[in-house]
Amino acid sequence: MDNEWNEVSLDSLCAALCCVMGVEPPEHAAAKNETLCAYAEKALGGRRADRLFMYNPDAVAQWIYEKYPEFTAEMQAVSELSLPMRTVMPSVTPVCFGTMYTGAQPEVHGIRRYEKPVIKLDSIFDAMLRAGKRVAVLAERDCSMAKIFLEREMDYFIYDSIPEINAKAAELIAGDRHDMIVVYNGNYDAVMHKHGPEDVHALAELRQNSFAFATFINLIKNYWKSHNTLAGFAMDHGCHPARLTAEPLCAAQIPEKLSPGAERPDRSEGAAAAKTQHAQNARVRSGLRSERAK
Ligand SMILES: [Zn+2]
Repeated sequence: MDNEWNEVSLDSLCAALCCVMGVEPPEHAAAKNETLCAYAEKALGGRRADRLFMYNPDAVAQWIYEKYPEFTAEMQAVSELSLPMRTVMPSVTPVCFGTMYTGAQPEVHGIRRYEKPVIKLDSIFDAMLRAGKRVAVLAERDCSMAKIFLEREMDYFIYDSIPEINAKAAELIAGDRHDMIVVYNGNYDAVMHKHGPEDVHALAELRQNSFAFATFINLIKNYWKSHNTLAGFAMDHGCHPARLTAEPLCAAQIPEKLSPGAERPDRSEGAAAAKTQHAQNARVRSGLRSERAK
């Protein structure tokens, strides 16, 4: 663990995802992340992706990811690009997801503390809908992702448990009807807050996130063979032990992996943020996966 900040802001992810999909980014999105775009361009042989799958595990810190790589082995095995990013402050869930999916800083999208109002600002969901894409969001009841992007003409699947969420996500992948699917899993965050980031209970949840993502990627390989898909494992921010004195320092990293190719799953790593004087970088892994149409 170090005190270095990641140079790239989480706000660059949104426009990059839109670029990969060939969609005009939302109105206030920051400049696109060129690394991600270049990766996808090469991976897809110059084509645009027509499917976007975003897996959002809450609070998987970069330092956790780096310290315990064996707990994310399944996710890493299907990833090709890791893109560290710096999350936004305050690094709490609704603030960070607000930035991830609008491409705008908190003062622009309007959520600047832990609250969950519907974001009215133009978002990636609005951008996809304008482009004629069918979008689905899957999340736990009352969580940020179940609330802050409501009121769009897209499909919301809100459940009380992660098994229900992930089962529906698998069903949607098999159904092959949605162009963009966002799956939120808050299990690591919930247990980490109770037991600590490195507790065995929390790490067991991290492993579940790793298995879940790898399972989704394999489903996509099977069911979306005729599509070019970008898949991402992207966290909103990181975490730190409660005993540490919090300092106004936060570093987020979003590693993203994108991979193109007929037989390979793509993954990217997303961004996570870390705070405290011990600079806990949060790491998010996201994966992009593309397959050439046969
Ligand atoms: Zn969070």
